[in-house]
Amino acid sequence: MTPSDFDPLAAELARLDDAAALLGLDPGIHAILSHAERVLEVSVPLRRDGGTTEVHVGWRIHHNTARGPAKGGIRFLPGLVREEVQALAMAMTWKCALLEIPFGGGKGGVDCDPTTLSLAELERLTRRYTWQILPMLGPDRDVPAPDVNTDARVMAWMMDTVAVIRGGAAQDVVTGKPLEIGGVLGHQGATADGVTVAVREACERIGIPLAGTRVAIQGFGKVGGPLAYLLSSLGMRVVAVGDIAGATMNPAGLDIPALSGHVERTGSVADFPLGDPIPGDNLFAVECDVFIPAALHSAIGPDEARALTAGLVVEAANGPTTTEGDAVLNERGIMVVPDILANAGGVTASYFEWVQAREGYPWDQETAATRLRERMQHAVGTVFERAEHLKVSGRRAAYALAVERVADTISVRGSFP
Ligand code: NAD
Repeated sequence: MTPSDFDPLAAELARLDDAAALLGLDPGIHAILSHAERVLEVSVPLRRDGGTTEVHVGWRIHHNTARGPAKGGIRFLPGLVREEVQALAMAMTWKCALLEIPFGGGKGGVDCDPTTLSLAELERLTRRYTWQILPMLGPDRDVPAPDVNTDARVMAWMMDTVAVIRGGAAQDVVTGKPLEIGGVLGHQGATADGVTVAVREACERIGIPLAGTRVAIQGFGKVGGPLAYLLSSLGMRVVAVGDIAGATMNPAGLDIPALSGHVERTGSVADFPLGDPIPGDNLFAVECDVFIPAALHSAIGPDEARALTAGLVVEAANGPTTTEGDAVLNERGIMVVPDILANAGGVTASYFEWVQAREGYPWDQETAATRLRERMQHAVGTVFERAEHLKVSGRRAAYALAVERVADTISVRGSFP
């Protein structure tokens, strides 16, 4: 399956429709949740270093803010379209509801290729985009975070732009900031930390021990890299890892610190001397117990779902399974911990950063890590219970629970005017 074959907004809407049917949702609330609350499309003129000007299109979208300010990342990605941003904003609404975080769902981004920009151009693009979406932003309205191709540095420029234009400190305007301006230790590894909790809880639920259990991971970036390390530290055998340039396997378990060193030196897991090279597509068929997509959306279509040998899929990536792929996973009885639950450690850490900025009092790292793990454990347990109660898959249960929470909030608040 190639990502371009896939319509992420249609998939999100179908999942909402399914949850609405499961819950017998009020049609008015269903209609509210089928739409984005606000969609801002902006043009972002960028003055290149050579003196020419080009215009990029960007968006900031609030899917729903009934439960709190919109929360969601900013991505700079060539070919980005409004529908993709809207689908991701919707998923953020459900993710925050599942983790009982007092935020709604938002997402933003610019259609551009940041790899072709100089540092100065990237800064100008970021600041101009921030200015364009400023009416949407604020600690009580919308709190962005890094996402694909954006990082702490981009968040620092965003924060500074808001602070300069509005006046004031603006530390609670974005999360994922550098430590020097109110960022928190552990933010970077929080998603992997949360996925690890999801893997641990799911293995316990299906009665497989962690020690010796075989894992294959697609993606060895900001999520997949630390995740491979955390899982192997728990005694799991990471038997295969793939990235955009290739894949490597070792049935006895890959040496993850050595693999990290190799990736640092060469930029890829391909040609790792302590593993056997395999074509990236074959990663799905590697003999393993747990498969973790931690790379791109739409990675698991029907063919990949049929090829999997694992009994458990834990979705670290956003939207890694297509609707058709999901149907095959269900038919085959493969348990899935869905993305809106499995990768919610990142947004949880963002929430903690926002709380600390508002309190003006940083927590110690252990407190933050313990609170994150407890929250993830509770959320995973609650979704599994709902799945058992409704006799549906983990994904359908997670959507049902999240949609129910948001719907309850909307109905308690009532409809304006
Ligand atoms: P990243 O850019 O750091 O790493 C991506 C990895 O995927 C790289 O190893 C890359 O080589 C690999 N990859 C890219 N295209 C591929 C392809 N066609 N085939 C195989 N591998 C490919 O990104 P990341 O931050 O690790 O994010 C990975 C996924 O997790 C994304 O779906 C992202 O939306 C999701 N996610 C990330 C976070 C976070 O905190 N970074 C939080 C929630 C969800």
